[in-house]
Formats: sequence, structure tokens, C-alpha cells
Amino acid sequence: MDKPLQILLATPEAVPFAKTGGLADVAGALPKFLRAMGCEIKLVMPYYRMVKESGHPLQYLGEEIEIPLGDEKLKADIYLSHLSQDIPVYFIGRGEFFDREYLYGSPKGDYFDNAERFIFFSKAVLTFCQHRGFSPDIIHHHEWQTGLIPAYLKSVYRKDPLFSHTATVFTIHNIAYQGIFKKEKFALTDLPAEMYNPEGIEFWERINFMKGGIVYADAINTVSQKYSEEIQTSEYGYGLEGILRKRGENLYGILNGVDYQDWNPSHDPHLAARYDLKDISGKKECKKDLLKELHLPASLENVPLLGMISRLADQKGFDLLMEILNELFSLDIGFVLLGTGEQKYHDLFTQVARKYPQKAGIRIAYDDRLAHKIEAGADLFLMPSKYEPCGLNQIYSLKYGTIPVVRATGGLDDSIIQYDPATKKGTGFKFTRYDAKEFLATLKEAIRIYSEPEQWGQLIRNAMMADFSWERSSEAYLQLYRNTLEQKRENIST
Ligand code: ADP
Repeated sequence: MDKPLQILLATPEAVPFAKTGGLADVAGALPKFLRAMGCEIKLVMPYYRMVKESGHPLQYLGEEIEIPLGDEKLKADIYLSHLSQDIPVYFIGRGEFFDREYLYGSPKGDYFDNAERFIFFSKAVLTFCQHRGFSPDIIHHHEWQTGLIPAYLKSVYRKDPLFSHTATVFTIHNIAYQGIFKKEKFALTDLPAEMYNPEGIEFWERINFMKGGIVYADAINTVSQKYSEEIQTSEYGYGLEGILRKRGENLYGILNGVDYQDWNPSHDPHLAARYDLKDISGKKECKKDLLKELHLPASLENVPLLGMISRLADQKGFDLLMEILNELFSLDIGFVLLGTGEQKYHDLFTQVARKYPQKAGIRIAYDDRLAHKIEAGADLFLMPSKYEPCGLNQIYSLKYGTIPVVRATGGLDDSIIQYDPATKKGTGFKFTRYDAKEFLATLKEAIRIYSEPEQWGQLIRNAMMADFSWERSSEAYLQLYRNTLEQKRENIST
């Protein structure tokens, strides 16, 4: 039998220890499925205050490693917890860097020393391997915070036999966040001077950590096939499209899976009633319950209820929604929104709630329980995003028979199939141009189909049958690891 693949997953966040976005869900779920397929897997992440306060059992290992940072040598403590019994999670601790209220910055902006913090973390990942004599086959690292890891493997750690066969896979979850810093910080990296050039990690006379991952990792992937194509264009690439095109042969797209343990109307503990494909009558109860929770009139039970759950950020297409608000609310609909984020949207939706108290239920908060209730209680789920690397809510919505209306971008395009009333195939509604009129026309089409019970029932069944479980995605990752290792071996031997 083959030796199990040894994987080290280096991530700036992972559920259930620390989370700011979808990346944490991936880092928390993927390892369990890889483990089930026979891989040996370890995680390494920073020891934030959020980890300390997460309530999960943590063991201080009493070991220290030393990390060079420019002229200094800084110590790191190591803590241990587990994702499941046989998946250890090692935490790199240094109070000065990670014992803070937030992970990357406060509402006022990014932390001033993010370069130091994540240079330190990236080096610590490799120093930790040396300290433990751990020789991974694959280092799977995520987002800009870990972007420098392959640059180190190709320079400072090049001669260490521990890493002679190690291949790196770099996952981009959102290319809009790149970790760009002043060039003066380059000295802290201890990378060789020749890496500071436009073919390396230089980016318009600054340093760019994400570019490090793109240039030096053995393989790169994003969280949907469509997004992996989009980021090679100037519209979506945020300045990195050229270098991504150059690496096109090693650039892949793997859609995230979802955790159907957490998101499944047949056993969701947050719902007023449970339902499944065989009997969806419980969905009506959930709608009633949701209307009540948001103090909306019970009469809305009989009209399409539109739902949104989102970070309130420009990326999510709220400017399109703003343009069509008046016309939208002139229709016979209800609207529910749960979200937090930028102040301008807090103000906007507070006004919407005041202007349309009989139709709009707005909750400015982060509330997992209500998120589940909206997924179950709404009829349509709106995601008119400007860009969407993967998106999770539209996939949850399918499972809950809540029909997505999405812009055909990134993972939204890859996960939703346009409904065709003639063939009765498809799972939702899509529009292509980032344009308010197209959005409104698509919404109206969805509302029209809603008024035809037979069509609508079929559409709900199609949606609920779609399968985006992690099994599928983790197999794709395993294949990517194997291919990358193979390629690396071939390169070494030639
Ligand atoms: P992104 O990672 O860009 O924020 P995704 O759709 O990939 O968008 O993931 C968002 C995740 O965060 C989903 O699990 C969603 O339910 C959750 N979420 C977002 N905003 C809220 C909120 N205000 N309350 C509860 N859950 C939320």
C-alpha cells in the first residue's frame, strides 16, 4: 500500500478556532475529508486571542522555536489542539503579534505591523517543521498571509533535505486582499535580494505577499473554476492578472464544499419545522416563523419572500440593489436581510426598514441562528455580487429549497444552473452584466415562475437535489496534491 500522503495545512484562520470568512470554513472542513481518504494532516495557524478565548481545549507544549526577523531573533510558543482526534492543530504563539482583539485589523483599518506578523508566521511554519523533524509531502497554504512560504522553500530553506520533495499548493480565496507593504519591509523577510523584482514579489515598488504565492508555489488554485479564469483578466485580477496568466498551466479551480451537517433542513436545530425532499411542507412553517421573528405581517406568507445574508460590502452588489429599491418594493414581495459591514450600508438598510415596515425585515448583526432561519424561510435568495470567488450562501440556499438569484460570476456561476421553464431543468436564476436593470428583470422572471406552483415545485426539487458535499471537493484537492507532487518529482529528476 502507498504511504499516506503527509499534508501540512498552513492557514491564517480555521473553524472552530478563529474565523473572519469562508477560508476558515474550508480550513476547518477539508482536513477531515482528506483524513477520511487516508491522508495524514496537520494544521498550523497563529495563536490569536480569539483562539485562546474559543473555549476549545488547548495544550501549551512548553516548546519554543526561534524565528529570525531582520536583525532580530524572536521566540514563538507552540500550542496544540485538535480538529478531530487524529488531526492536530498547532498554534504559533507570540503575544506581541497575535494577542489582539481582531485577526488582521480593527474597524479603523489594518494593523500597522501585518507584514511583520505574517512574515513571522510564514517562517514559523517552516521552522516548526524543522523543530519537529516533520517532512511534509504537501504544504497547502492559504491567502496572502502565507504567500511567502514557497518563496522561503525556494531560497532560505532550499538546502534542507527535510523539504527536498515538498510541493506547495497555494489557495487564493479572494484576490482583492493581497498583503501589499512598503519595500522597506523586504529586509525583514530575509529573502535573497533577487526575489525583489517584478518577476518575484515586487509589485510596483512595494512587496506583495500574495504575489509570492503565485510566483513560487508549485500549484495555485482558487475556489471556483470560473473565478480562476476571471482573475486572469484586468477586471477581476486586481493587478495580478498578468502573473496569473503566466502561471496559467498550474492554476486550477476547485469549488468549496459545504458542510451538510450544519446546513440541512432535515435536521437543522434552528428551524421551527424540519423538512426534506420527500415532504417540504415544513418550509411554510419556517416562513411564518421568520416573518414573526422579523415583525413582518403574516400576510406576506403568500407572496415571494426575498432573502439576503451577507457581509455588507461593495463586493456583494448592494449598489445594484440600491438602484432598484423603489421598483422592487412596488412589487408584491417581502424582503429580509441579515448583515453587518460598512456603515453606509447599515444606514441604507436602517432607512429601508423605516420606509417599508410592512415589507422589509432588516437585522444589522452577525447571527448564525437567524441565518439558518432565513435560508429556510425565504423563497428566493439574492446574490448580485460584483465578484464572488465561491460564495456559500447560494449553495446553502439550494439545500433549503430557497431559489438563488445570482449574478453569473465566480462560484455563483459554477454552482447555479439557470432554470428553463420549457425543460424544467435548472436550479436558479442568473444575470450576466453587472447592471441593475438586468438584475431587476431576472428577479421579475423568478417572481413570475414563483406564481406558477407546478414550475416552482419542480424548481425547488431540482435545487434541493443538487449536491455540493465536501467529498467531491476534497477528492479534487487530493488529485491536485498528487499531480503536483508527481510534477515536482519529474522536475527534480530531469
Ligand atoms: P464571504 O466569505 O465573501 O463573506 P460567503 O458566502 O463565501 O461570503 O460566506 C459567508 C458566510 O458567512 C456564510 O456562512 C454566511 O452564512 C455567513 N454570514 C455572513 N454574514 C452573516 C451574518 N450577518 N450573520 C450570520 N452569518 C453570516
